[in-house]
Order: sequence, then structure tokens, then C-alpha cells
Amino acid sequence: MILKEAIEQLKNGLAAVAEPQEAQAMIRIICEDIFNYDQVDVALRQDSELPEFAQQRITDIISRLQRHEPLQYIVGSARFHGHRFKVTPAVLIPRPETEQLVDLIVDENSASDLRVLDIGTGSGCIAISLARALKFAQVDALDVSRDALAVARENAAALKVRVNFFESDILSPQPAARYDIIVSNPPYVCWNERESMECNVKDYEPGQALFVPDNDPLLFYKAIAPYAAQSLEKGGRLYLEINQRFGQEVKKLLEENGLDEIRIIEDSYGNTRFAAAVMR
Ligand code: GLN
Repeated sequence: MILKEAIEQLKNGLAAVAEPQEAQAMIRIICEDIFNYDQVDVALRQDSELPEFAQQRITDIISRLQRHEPLQYIVGSARFHGHRFKVTPAVLIPRPETEQLVDLIVDENSASDLRVLDIGTGSGCIAISLARALKFAQVDALDVSRDALAVARENAAALKVRVNFFESDILSPQPAARYDIIVSNPPYVCWNERESMECNVKDYEPGQALFVPDNDPLLFYKAIAPYAAQSLEKGGRLYLEINQRFGQEVKKLLEENGLDEIRIIEDSYGNTRFAAAVMR
């Protein structure tokens, strides 16, 4: 089989699971994964004969995608904030919304030597991107999942940044600390929203990182807000990714915990997706 035929096979195989434009983006990622080919290589090598292993890998990828397995888990990586992060089913696949959260923090915090904490770091994408983008920041990151932390540590090493990762559950008491910035993208999807989610998310991504009980949607924010109030320096800032349904509730919770200048901010899809606040 030649490359041109393999791409045709991928297009046909993906037609049932992805829109043409998305399928094209996926094929680009697959060619990079299997052959290490960029777009130019793909264009130049249309007639090159493929080795046996590549043909098998393509068949395998197509059948996994048809079962709605996320491509990022199949190839083992995802792009976030200009870098490639390792991902496994132990961590959420980084979302474009979360890149916006990182951009917001970078835009609003130009000082150097800031002390930063990322709560529920997962792949480490927020902590590592901030460690790269802020000037001489000292970044701590915690997660309850040892498997997630192993992935996060590999990502920090691969991207050559120092982040101090530690295993901890934000729902249990935390030692007081001093931070200039606390950020979190905690689980915030209610179980009753699960049915309306895509199969690739609900069947493959870690439920522990996504879901909260229907009767306690702010579970994590209720732990994060008082911890932030206690651990942020005066003038320190809290940044959260939130469930679009609970912007006003999160705002109220932050007020009750003594945070100031609270903003509820929309993502580029127009959903209320972030909360930001200042400690006075
Ligand atoms: N935004 C994610 C999703 O739509 C949820 C992330 C989270 O729960 N923190 O799947």
C-alpha cells in the first residue's frame, strides 16, 4: 500500500466518527505519529510504499477511533499552549478552554518570582505552561492521583521545567502556605450531565477528574476557596475553570470566603467558564 491509499483508507474509516475537517486534522496527527511526517512530507511522499507495521497501525487506529477512543490517548500526546504533552487515560486531555485560562493568567501576571499553586494538575499542562511562560515562577502542583502525577512529572522533565509536584487531596486539610497565584481546573461536571457528553469523553477520560455529585456541584470550589483565602498573599490571585451552569454560585462562594474583585469570564465559545478573584 502507498501513502495516498492509506490516507484514503483513513478518510473512509473516519467518515463515520468525525466531520471532514476534524478527520483531516486527525489524519495529520496520525501521519505525524506513525511516520513522523509533517504536511510537507505527506504531500511529497504520496506514492511511497508503506511498511507492513504502518499498515497494521493504521487499521488499528481506525478501529479504535470507530470505538470513540480519543485520538490523543491512541497516539499518547496532546498539544497544549504550544507544547506537546504526554497523555494517558490517567489524565484528562487538555482542552482549548484551559489554554485560555493559562493565557489569562500570563496576561495579568507580569511580575517575576511569583509563587504559583495548581490544584488538581492532571497532565501538568497548566502548571508546566505557567512555569514556562511566567518569569522565574516557583510552581507547585498537587493531584490526588499518583498515576496522573507520574505523567505530569514526565511532562515537566520533557519540557525542561521545574515544577514541585506532590500527592495530595484538596478535599482533606492542607498545610497553610504562601502563594501569589492559585489556579485550578477541578472536576465540575455533574453526574446527571454525563448522558449528554460525547462517548469519547465519558467512556475514556478519567471520571475522577471530571465528575462531581449532582447534589454538591461546588464540592471542589468549597475546598479551594477557603484554602486560597488562607494561602494567598495580599493582592494574590485565584483563577478557576468552572461549570458554565454555576457562575453565580461560584461568585457567591468566593465572596463568602472574603475574595475580592470577582470576575466570571466567558470562554471563546461564549460559555461562562472561568472565575478570577483577588485576595485583599
Ligand atoms: N471541560 C471539561 C469537559 O467538558 C471538564 C473539565 C473538568 O471537569 N474540569 O469535559
